[in-house]
Amino acid sequence: MNNFHGGLSGCVEVICGPMFSGKTEELIRRVRRAQIARQKVQIFKPAIDDRYHETDIVSHNSLKIEGTPVNTAAEILENLYDSTRVVGIDEIQFFDEDIIIVVKKLSRRGIRVICAGLDQDFRGTPFGPIPTLLCIADRIEKIQAICTVCGNAASRTYRKDPESNSDQVLVGENDLYEARCAIHWNYDQEDEDLRAYFALKKNMVDESQTTTL
Ligand code: ADP
Ligand code: MG
Repeated sequence: MNNFHGGLSGCVEVICGPMFSGKTEELIRRVRRAQIARQKVQIFKPAIDDRYHETDIVSHNSLKIEGTPVNTAAEILENLYDSTRVVGIDEIQFFDEDIIIVVKKLSRRGIRVICAGLDQDFRGTPFGPIPTLLCIADRIEKIQAICTVCGNAASRTYRKDPESNSDQVLVGENDLYEARCAIHWNYDQEDEDLRAYFALKKNMVDESQTTTL
């Protein structure tokens, strides 16, 4: 398919799911296939993610590929070569909303952009720019891990240390996190939030009824 930017049509792909679901593995698989097709590929990750290696992108089963750590979304554009046809971005949930502008710009330039990241944090809240990315994506793959408690498919990330539950971002590995199915994830805060939400709603209804009386 042709467009105005050098003959190739850009696109946005999103790979999402909980920790340990194979997002990095899948990103590396797609990138390797692009390399077999002799397309120039560049991979980026947020510098905050230095769990395994400062620059390499490494999966939990030790697949790895060379990447460039960046502190901001804009640095992706600054580091981009003219010849690059495919851009992979791992742990994309850690970027701020500027990443949306960058992803759109890359795809308009005819680049295939493969984004991998957590769809939800440990509380089950959509993570950072992921909801918008899912909207603008041409292709979405949501994958599951295996629940560490029961062995069923897992869509949630469970944080093991309740003491640290105030921060959304706490970079860690299986020392801190586990993949869980919805039943064994069972984040208690959700019940509290729900009770507070319904209590607030009930108060609002009660108040509006009182004023109309
Ligand atoms: P992600 O990037 O989604 O965190 P990775 O691609 O780094 O995941 O790692 C996926 C690999 O993690 C699997 O192929 C498997 O070898 C390993 N793994 C460890 N724990 C689990 C789990 N609970 N469920 C699935 N895979 C797991
Ligand atoms: Mg990963």
